[in-house]
Amino acid sequence: MNMDYKEKAFQNLRKQNLRITNARKAIIDILEGKHLTLQEIYHELKKRGFHNLSTVYNNIDFLLEHKIITQVFINGKKHYDLTIEEYSHNADSHVHVKCLANDNIIEINEEEFIDKIKDHQVFEGFHISKLQLVVEGACKHYNSELCKDKDYCYLEKIKKGSH
Ligand SMILES: [Zn+2]
Ligand SMILES: [Zn+2]
Repeated sequence: MNMDYKEKAFQNLRKQNLRITNARKAIIDILEGKHLTLQEIYHELKKRGFHNLSTVYNNIDFLLEHKIITQVFINGKKHYDLTIEEYSHNADSHVHVKCLANDNIIEINEEEFIDKIKDHQVFEGFHISKLQLVVEGACKHYNSELCKDKDYCYLEKIKKGSH
Protein backbone atom coordinates (compact mmCIF):
# COMPACT_ATOMS: atom_id res chain seq x y z
CA MET A 1 0.00 0.00 0.00
CA ASN A 2 2.64 2.52 0.99
CA MET A 3 5.69 0.99 -0.62
CA ASP A 4 6.97 4.31 -1.90
CA TYR A 5 6.44 6.43 1.22
CA LYS A 6 10.03 5.97 2.28
CA GLU A 7 11.42 7.12 -1.05
CA LYS A 8 9.05 10.08 -1.00
CA ALA A 9 10.26 11.03 2.47
CA PHE A 10 13.87 11.01 1.25
CA GLN A 11 12.89 13.07 -1.79
CA ASN A 12 11.21 15.55 0.50
CA LEU A 13 14.37 15.86 2.61
CA ARG A 14 16.50 16.41 -0.49
CA LYS A 15 14.08 18.96 -1.84
CA GLN A 16 14.38 20.97 1.37
CA ASN A 17 18.17 20.60 1.21
CA LEU A 18 18.22 18.69 4.48
CA ARG A 19 20.89 16.16 5.29
CA ILE A 20 19.91 12.52 5.36
CA THR A 21 21.91 11.43 8.39
CA ASN A 22 22.05 7.80 9.49
CA ALA A 23 19.66 8.45 12.37
CA ARG A 24 17.13 10.23 10.15
CA LYS A 25 17.39 7.49 7.58
CA ALA A 26 16.84 4.84 10.26
CA ILE A 27 13.74 6.60 11.63
CA ILE A 28 12.24 6.85 8.15
CA ASP A 29 13.05 3.17 7.50
CA ILE A 30 11.41 2.14 10.74
CA LEU A 31 8.26 4.16 10.10
CA GLU A 32 7.64 2.87 6.62
CA GLY A 33 4.14 1.38 6.52
CA LYS A 34 3.79 1.72 10.31
CA HIS A 35 2.44 4.04 12.97
CA LEU A 36 4.68 3.84 16.01
CA THR A 37 4.96 5.44 19.43
CA LEU A 38 8.18 7.11 20.56
CA GLN A 39 8.95 4.05 22.70
CA GLU A 40 8.54 1.75 19.74
CA ILE A 41 10.76 3.90 17.55
CA TYR A 42 13.40 4.05 20.25
CA HIS A 43 13.23 0.29 20.72
CA GLU A 44 13.79 -0.28 16.99
CA LEU A 45 16.60 2.29 16.86
CA LYS A 46 18.41 0.58 19.71
CA LYS A 47 18.44 -2.63 17.69
CA ARG A 48 20.17 -0.64 14.96
CA GLY A 49 22.79 0.73 17.31
CA PHE A 50 21.35 4.13 18.20
CA HIS A 51 21.36 4.36 21.98
CA ASN A 52 21.20 8.06 22.66
CA LEU A 53 17.63 8.97 23.53
CA SER A 54 18.18 12.71 23.19
CA THR A 55 19.52 12.23 19.65
CA VAL A 56 16.36 10.28 18.88
CA TYR A 57 14.20 13.10 20.32
CA ASN A 58 16.13 15.72 18.37
CA ASN A 59 15.78 13.86 15.12
CA ILE A 60 12.09 13.25 15.62
CA ASP A 61 11.58 16.95 16.35
CA PHE A 62 13.59 17.80 13.26
CA LEU A 63 11.53 15.50 11.04
CA LEU A 64 8.29 16.87 12.53
CA GLU A 65 9.37 20.44 11.99
CA HIS A 66 10.07 19.75 8.33
CA LYS A 67 6.83 17.79 7.95
CA ILE A 68 8.55 14.56 6.97
CA ILE A 69 6.64 12.86 9.76
CA THR A 70 3.50 13.79 11.65
CA GLN A 71 1.88 12.96 15.00
CA VAL A 72 -1.44 11.20 15.34
CA PHE A 73 -3.26 10.30 18.55
CA ILE A 74 -4.51 6.77 18.24
CA ASN A 75 -5.73 4.69 21.15
CA GLY A 76 -4.89 7.60 23.45
CA LYS A 77 -1.22 7.46 22.50
CA LYS A 78 0.89 9.63 20.30
CA HIS A 79 2.03 7.81 17.17
CA TYR A 80 4.41 8.97 14.49
CA ASP A 81 3.68 8.52 10.84
CA LEU A 82 5.51 9.24 7.58
CA THR A 83 3.82 11.87 5.49
CA ILE A 84 3.80 12.22 1.76
CA GLU A 85 2.99 15.40 -0.01
CA GLU A 86 -0.19 14.09 -1.43
CA TYR A 87 -3.41 15.86 -0.69
CA SER A 88 -4.90 13.03 1.33
CA HIS A 89 -1.82 12.02 3.28
CA ASN A 90 0.30 15.02 4.10
CA ALA A 91 1.20 16.29 7.53
CA ASP A 92 -2.08 18.14 7.85
CA SER A 93 -4.66 15.97 6.14
CA HIS A 94 -4.84 12.45 7.34
CA VAL A 95 -7.56 9.91 8.10
CA HIS A 96 -6.92 6.78 10.18
CA VAL A 97 -9.10 3.82 11.08
CA LYS A 98 -8.29 1.33 13.81
CA CYS A 99 -9.97 -1.88 14.98
CA LEU A 100 -10.45 -2.11 18.75
CA ALA A 101 -8.68 -5.42 19.12
CA ASN A 102 -5.28 -4.74 17.59
CA ASP A 103 -2.79 -2.06 16.70
CA ASN A 104 -3.44 -2.29 13.01
CA ILE A 105 -4.11 1.14 11.58
CA ILE A 106 -5.35 1.73 8.07
CA GLU A 107 -5.60 5.01 6.23
CA ILE A 108 -8.25 6.42 3.97
CA ASN A 109 -6.18 8.16 1.35
CA GLU A 110 -8.91 9.43 -0.90
CA GLU A 111 -9.16 13.02 -1.98
CA GLU A 112 -12.94 12.82 -2.38
CA PHE A 113 -13.32 11.79 1.25
CA ILE A 114 -11.25 14.72 2.53
CA ASP A 115 -13.08 17.06 0.13
CA LYS A 116 -16.41 15.94 1.52
CA ILE A 117 -15.38 17.06 4.99
CA LYS A 118 -13.90 20.31 3.72
CA ASP A 119 -17.08 21.03 1.78
CA HIS A 120 -19.16 21.24 4.96
CA GLN A 121 -20.81 24.63 5.40
CA VAL A 122 -18.95 25.16 8.67
CA PHE A 123 -15.76 25.43 6.63
CA GLU A 124 -17.01 27.98 4.16
CA GLY A 125 -14.48 30.79 4.23
CA PHE A 126 -12.53 28.82 6.83
CA HIS A 127 -8.88 28.10 6.14
CA ILE A 128 -8.16 24.55 7.28
CA SER A 129 -4.57 24.19 8.41
CA LYS A 130 -4.94 20.71 9.84
CA LEU A 131 -7.46 17.94 9.29
CA GLN A 132 -6.80 14.73 11.14
CA LEU A 133 -9.43 12.15 11.84
CA VAL A 134 -9.06 8.96 13.86
CA VAL A 135 -11.89 6.44 13.80
CA GLU A 136 -11.73 3.57 16.29
CA GLY A 137 -14.24 0.78 16.58
CA ALA A 138 -15.20 -2.79 15.81
CA CYS A 139 -14.44 -4.00 12.29
CA LYS A 140 -17.02 -5.76 10.12
CA HIS A 141 -16.07 -9.26 11.31
CA TYR A 142 -15.26 -8.12 14.83
CA ASN A 143 -14.30 -10.67 17.40
CA SER A 144 -12.33 -9.39 20.37
CA GLU A 145 -10.17 -12.52 20.50
CA LEU A 146 -9.77 -13.34 16.81
CA CYS A 147 -9.15 -9.73 15.77
CA LYS A 148 -5.96 -9.73 17.83
CA ASP A 149 -4.60 -11.67 14.88
CA LYS A 150 -4.19 -9.01 12.22
CA ASP A 151 -4.77 -11.50 9.42
CA TYR A 152 -8.22 -12.24 10.79
CA CYS A 153 -9.17 -8.58 11.25
CA TYR A 154 -11.33 -7.20 8.45
CA LEU A 155 -9.29 -3.99 8.34
CA GLU A 156 -6.22 -5.99 7.36
CA LYS A 157 -8.19 -7.54 4.51
CA ILE A 158 -9.17 -4.08 3.31
CA LYS A 159 -5.56 -2.96 3.60
CA LYS A 160 -4.39 -5.85 1.48
CA GLY A 161 -7.27 -5.39 -0.93
CA SER A 162 -8.35 -8.99 -0.46
CA HIS A 163 -11.76 -8.48 1.12
ZN1 LIG B 1 -0.98 7.36 8.66
ZN1 LIG C 1 -10.99 -6.40 13.56
